[in-house]
Amino acid sequence: MALWSDLVWPLLCSYTLCQLDFWRGPGGQDVPIDVRVPFASLQAVKIFLESNGICYSILIDDLQVSALVDEEQTQMISHHFMPRSVETFNYASYHTLDEVTAGAHPLTRDPPGSERRWYPLHLCFSMQFSTGGAKRPAIWIDTGIHSREWITQASGVWFAKKIVDSYGKDPSLTSILDNLDIFLEIVTNPDGFAFTHTKNRMWRKTRSINSGSACIGVDPNRNWDAGFGGAGASSNPCSETYHGPYANSELEVKAIVDFVKSHGNIKAFISIHSYSQLLMYPYGYTRTQAADYQELVGSSSHPQVAALSSLYGTRYRYGSIITTIYQASGGTIDWTYNQGIKYSFTFELRDTGSYGFLLPANQIISTAEETWLALMTIMEYTRDHPY
Ligand SMILES: [Zn+2]
Repeated sequence: MALWSDLVWPLLCSYTLCQLDFWRGPGGQDVPIDVRVPFASLQAVKIFLESNGICYSILIDDLQVSALVDEEQTQMISHHFMPRSVETFNYASYHTLDEVTAGAHPLTRDPPGSERRWYPLHLCFSMQFSTGGAKRPAIWIDTGIHSREWITQASGVWFAKKIVDSYGKDPSLTSILDNLDIFLEIVTNPDGFAFTHTKNRMWRKTRSINSGSACIGVDPNRNWDAGFGGAGASSNPCSETYHGPYANSELEVKAIVDFVKSHGNIKAFISIHSYSQLLMYPYGYTRTQAADYQELVGSSSHPQVAALSSLYGTRYRYGSIITTIYQASGGTIDWTYNQGIKYSFTFELRDTGSYGFLLPANQIISTAEETWLALMTIMEYTRDHPY
């Protein structure tokens, strides 16, 4: 399996003209790789794997008509409504862009004795939870920068509700909000998210038009100005990991970059993806160890994973991006870390490939609950270790 990262991966990719959609991998030795294979490439890939003695198994047979996609649609339709109040929003269902907006927006209304409001970022949807003055130290959390990772946006809505419900009741969250602001961007890639509902459930990138190419979109997690254009990103606009024409070319990325710079006091930055059950810290673009490596491991990563697992026994691995999954340049938290945001983390939520991006809706709440415990750990750590 060591061959994967060094040899087989590029061979396989060029062999089928990069039409493969890598859901997960390559992640080093002993870690399986999940790939969605277009029907036209099926025979070629099977022959390739078998002739090279590579073991494989089929996780999801015929994705488009698989029971999973059907089930997801049925589940959504049965819960379809335009929620106008927090009370009627179903947190155990997946929702469209309009539904998420309508369901999350009222959460920011009428905060007793405090100021919580939408913070308008260009294009995107972000909420600010604040109980104090301007430019207090802050924590940033985003979900859904890759649009098909639906468990992340669904968890993001649940986080918003949890924050509102817990303030004034849960002493720890109350003290966090009494000292720090929380910014939460739930639909970080809104155009891509809308597209996953209307046209292609497996859409990952933005929806930018690429000049000189018929292929649409840029990978917004390869578009940041940290090792931009290096290994682990593609210069091919048709690739799922296309880095874009230049750093921050995507409005979704640029909006956050501008916000982080102008705010100037973000202390923790947490970017949430799925799937694989991982907690990672910088770096992804370089093998150079982060200067705060020991603190990121000993004081943050380990307790976060322990807290997360304590609820339902969900097992997470943690480490730097490059050592845990693969080299990836232009990633979000490499940039935020280089900006001086010491507590920069990225999550890959459930599962480990049984359902992949099609995680059943009946796992939304348990996933959000366990992730919240890890988020609380990092927020408490940020509160208690100012810098
Ligand atoms: Zn992702």
